[in-house]
Amino acid sequence: MSQKKWDTIIIGGGPAGLAAGIYAARARLHTLLIEKLGQGGQILLTNWIENYPGFPEGVSGFHLAELFSQQSTNFGLEILNGEVDTITEKEGDKEIRIQNQNFLTKTVIVASGASPLRLGVDGEEEMIGKGVSFCATCDGPFYKDKVVAVVGGGDSAVEEAIFLTKFAKKVYIIHRRDELRATKILQERALNNTGIEMLWDSVVEKIEGDKQGVKRIHLKNVKSEKLSGLDSDGIFIYIGIKPNVDFLPRELRKDSRDFLITDENMETSIPGIFAAGDVRSKLLRQVVTAVGDGATAAFAAELYIHKYYQS
Ligand code: NAP
Repeated sequence: MSQKKWDTIIIGGGPAGLAAGIYAARARLHTLLIEKLGQGGQILLTNWIENYPGFPEGVSGFHLAELFSQQSTNFGLEILNGEVDTITEKEGDKEIRIQNQNFLTKTVIVASGASPLRLGVDGEEEMIGKGVSFCATCDGPFYKDKVVAVVGGGDSAVEEAIFLTKFAKKVYIIHRRDELRATKILQERALNNTGIEMLWDSVVEKIEGDKQGVKRIHLKNVKSEKLSGLDSDGIFIYIGIKPNVDFLPRELRKDSRDFLITDENMETSIPGIFAAGDVRSKLLRQVVTAVGDGATAAFAAELYIHKYYQS
């Protein structure tokens, strides 16, 4: 018996993958979405999203993920929980391997997103779950009336620092320069927030703690080279993201930071493999751009199938 062949398999259930799923299912492509955790991707780690059109008051990341997921399954998208090990070429098709299962497909849409970068300092790895966190939405409530530090100067660091002021009595933002990278409106809010103190030109050298949790953060001022210590009950690290590409064919073209290079139709350097969302090399990583990528990738996959399978 010949193996069942999918029209498209989407890898990743964040906004890009779910939008691709909605478009592919509506195009009546035989579509499977594979996600290793729950649907939603990084928005599940985001407390409040206020720049996605259609929600003038903003929307919680969790609720938006639920809505995307519900909308995709309403159109009949099939979803499988699993972690993809490899994608290989097989006689003109693609074969996706998950542990001991194989899936044959005409096209693949990679929407595997990105993961938080680590500082790489002593104490970071050991204290994860004991005061070192990459998710203020998940762990913020544990810091009621405590002192916390946030590392980074981008949208994530500033947004999450503001969120943490709901719980913590004091939030420090540790940033390696004397100017934030975050969107201006977030900068204004953070700089005007009396619960936040900026520690400029500073980098973390070491995180110190014990079985109870983080106690002290060792800092260095990059201009004066002066060393100092900051007593803190927790540290939230938001220093950027790296793309989730380890399972992909090595020959796929990537930029200098390993994000996948695509053309404007979201097609990667391997025909029939498309990429969408944060995993892709692009200017702006937002929910609104991720869903646009996902829609385009699904449409391009449909055109690819027409060209190579139905002509
Ligand atoms: P990001 O924009 O890349 O910012 C990373 C920050 O960490 C920068 O301020 C950077 O400093 C600092 N940094 C990098 N490496 C460091 C190191 N080794 N030690 C200390 N500091 C370090 O990352 P992000 O904030 O996670 O955001 C990722 C993407 O998601 C961005 O495109 C962002 O716009 C988007 N995002 C959007 C929203 C929103 O629209 N509401 C919310 C969250 C995220 P420098 O500034 O000196 O480089």
